[in-house]
Amino acid sequence: MSLRAGVLAVQGDVSEHARAIERAAAAHDESAEVVEISEAGLVPDCDVLLMPGGESTTISRLVHREGIASEIEAHVADGKPVLATCAGLIVAATDAYDDRVETLNLVDATVERNAFGRQKDSFEAPLEVSGFGEPFPAVFIRAPVIDYVGTGVEVLASWDDRPVAVRDGPVVGTSFHPELTDDPRIHDLAFFDSVRS
Ligand code: GLN
Repeated sequence: MSLRAGVLAVQGDVSEHARAIERAAAAHDESAEVVEISEAGLVPDCDVLLMPGGESTTISRLVHREGIASEIEAHVADGKPVLATCAGLIVAATDAYDDRVETLNLVDATVERNAFGRQKDSFEAPLEVSGFGEPFPAVFIRAPVIDYVGTGVEVLASWDDRPVAVRDGPVVGTSFHPELTDDPRIHDLAFFDSVRS
C-alpha cells in the first residue's frame, strides 16, 4: 500500500516530518507519498495528515484564511489519522487560552502555550510512551503543557506529571517534536497503527 500523507506546510519542519513518515512506512515495507499542504483542495485526497510545530498563531490564521481548517475537520470526522505536534497540537486542541489561536477542537484537551519555558528552556527527555519498549528521545521546544484532557482521551506519555502525548480517536497529539530525531516510532504509532486498527 502507498500512503498519501499531507503535511501542513504553513511553517517549518516539513522535510523532517516527510523523512520520518517515509522511514515509518519503510519499516512496514510500504511507501509514502508526501504532499505539502498550503492551500485548500489537497487534504481530501490524503490518507493521513500531519500538523507540524511552528507558531500556533500563524498556523491558525493561515489554515482558516486558506480554507484548510474545514478540510482538516472533515478528515478527522471521517476517522482518518492526524499527527499534531507542538504548535500543531495547540491548533488541534479545544482551547489554548489565546484569542489569536482559533482552535479546531480535534483533540478534547486544553493547552497552555509556552508553558514548559521559553526557547532557552528547550530540552530533550527520554520519554516512556505507552507500548514502546524503549524510551523515546523527545525534544521539547517552547512546548505547550496539556492541562486538561477529556474522558475519551488516552494519555500516551507524561513528563513532570503532565500529559505530553495523547490520542483522541484518529488524532495523536504531542507537546514535543518527534521529527527532530531519527526515531520514527511516533509517526508509526500515529499513522500505521491507527491505519491498521
Ligand atoms: N511556542 C509555539 C506556539 O505557541 C510552539 C512551539 C513549537 O511548535 N515548537 O505556537
